Amino acid sequence: MAATVNQETCVGCGACVDSCPVSAIKIENDKAVVGDDCIECGACVGSCPTEAISL
Ligand code: SF4
Ligand code: SF4
Repeated sequence: MAATVNQETCVGCGACVDSCPVSAIKIENDKAVVGDDCIECGACVGSCPTEAISL
């Protein structure tokens, strides 16, 4: 299971993109999208100001 993004609370700020050590997150249509290369490290979870990401 990759990290999942709540599409309703994600504001597209990009903080999670910078937090990911394997560059698994991209912003598409102003929402974060987690790719299959996620290693489930959890770094992005704490980076999100709206708590939109969970593992
Ligand atoms: S859990 Fe880790 S590897 Fe997966 S998207 Fe978040 S920061 Fe990147
Ligand atoms: S840090 Fe949170 S609000 Fe910002 S782009 Fe990532 S998931 Fe969306």
